[in-house]
Amino acid sequence: MEKIKILIIEDEVAIADLLAYGLSNEGFETVKAHTGEDGLREVGRFKPDLLLLDWMLPDQSGLDICKKVTATHNIPILMLTAKSDIKDKILGLEFGADDYITKPFDLREVIARIRTILRRLMQASRQVDETLEDVIRFKDIEVAKSERQVKKNKQMVELTPKEFDLLMTLYSYRGKIFTREELLDFVWGYDYFGDTRTIDTHIQRLRKKLDLNDMITTVFGIGYKFERQADF
Ligand code: CA
Repeated sequence: MEKIKILIIEDEVAIADLLAYGLSNEGFETVKAHTGEDGLREVGRFKPDLLLLDWMLPDQSGLDICKKVTATHNIPILMLTAKSDIKDKILGLEFGADDYITKPFDLREVIARIRTILRRLMQASRQVDETLEDVIRFKDIEVAKSERQVKKNKQMVELTPKEFDLLMTLYSYRGKIFTREELLDFVWGYDYFGDTRTIDTHIQRLRKKLDLNDMITTVFGIGYKFERQADF
């Protein structure tokens, strides 16, 4: 069970609580830190996938934290700044922050920005994966990625383009739990305002066509994942 982990470094307890609450509802795992020192300790302990960093903290500046984190870790940073601190925003982006959001913020916008950063990262790592191997094999399935062909037990299986993309997305991040919204973003694109039930019907068809009930599993209340072969 691997949720995406987000560390929130924010000294205003009410804001930190609101963020933690909103992000947990979206299926993220969160930890809060109220000082820079605590935050840096949690970077090492909690090992977040993304950092939500307030720029004005009681003990050190967001910029200092940004520098320290990016010097030793490869963690994307979304900074939270006051509306007036334009200079800070530019500095932050120069020192490795990925994006910023101004206070007061809309929680939905924070979530959308986080998704954008994570999607960019995943697309980058997927490209790496694609250059490594063109033919993938699992169970009795063989996928030729560049030809977008799928065989089961040496017999060609017809998948629609979206079914193929869905399969490749899930496979590329074996073990990762995707929410339906994430899969919609990934496979259908950010601007697609479809119903998340679209995902369910596509998953069902994929499972049926390739007999993958045991590999593409439902994570109750969250979404779907492709089982790692080691777990299998
Ligand atoms: Ca603050």
